[in-house]
Amino acid sequence: MTATDSHEGTGRLAGKVAVITGAGSGIGRAAALLFAAEGAAVGVLDRDGAVAEETTAMVTAAGGRALALTADVSKAAQVTQAADAVAAEFGGIDVVYNNAGVDSRGSVAVAEEADWDRCFDVNVKGTYLMTQAALAHMGPGGSIINQGSVAALVGVMNFAAYCAAKGAVVALTRSMAVDLAGRGVRANVICPGTVYTPLMEPMLRARGDGDLDLGLQRTLVKYPIGRLGDVADIARVALFLASDEAAFMTGSVVAADGGMTAQ
Ligand code: ADP
Repeated sequence: MTATDSHEGTGRLAGKVAVITGAGSGIGRAAALLFAAEGAAVGVLDRDGAVAEETTAMVTAAGGRALALTADVSKAAQVTQAADAVAAEFGGIDVVYNNAGVDSRGSVAVAEEADWDRCFDVNVKGTYLMTQAALAHMGPGGSIINQGSVAALVGVMNFAAYCAAKGAVVALTRSMAVDLAGRGVRANVICPGTVYTPLMEPMLRARGDGDLDLGLQRTLVKYPIGRLGDVADIARVALFLASDEAAFMTGSVVAADGGMTAQ
């Protein structure tokens, strides 16, 4: 990388260091690319080291700075090691985007205990552990962004553990906001609506009784804006919350859902 193709020194996150969990794919990867393009050095954390390396290579190829980190956010020792590595490489941590997440299966009548525990471990405990590890390296001006979901705000069928876990992430965000305000750190939560990814196709097909287009139509009925989200829709909201443009926002629950929870 040369001085001329580096994003460093310019952009909405110039001079900041961000850690993004689950940055090996989907929203996390889009956020890593966007944050780096806006001047941040990015810790690209994923449980799957190969995809973390891939995102890191994409950031570097675009002229940004990134460090790949293999860690499971539900394991304290792993996230501490990752946060320490980012701080050692880039000199501190300014932004944490707790994006890593897993979904769940079934209504409360059939939800399985192991699935419930896994869902809470990654979505809720992972958010707590990663934030705690990063706070050891974070000063005033820091920003925590948590990934909630519309499932925290309305009941989504056959998704009991996920709804409960994302509800807990919203409550945890409010607790972070009041506890961390005194040290100049903000915490906000994004509640995305359904973001279209190829991984969703089986679910959409099932909703359409085997027909993908019908499943999509049935899902879109819930979205006044007439389309599902894409990863960039959510990454751009995270960028705003990460930046100093959002300096007066803390404890906010920001729906990015095409109006899904407005009706
Ligand atoms: P989305 O489209 O919402 O971003 P994805 O499933 O595409 O969802 O991405 C989630 C990412 O989070 C994946 O790269 C996955 O490996 C990562 N991930 C899942 N669980 C963990 C975990 N426990 N620790 C770290 N990363 C995780």
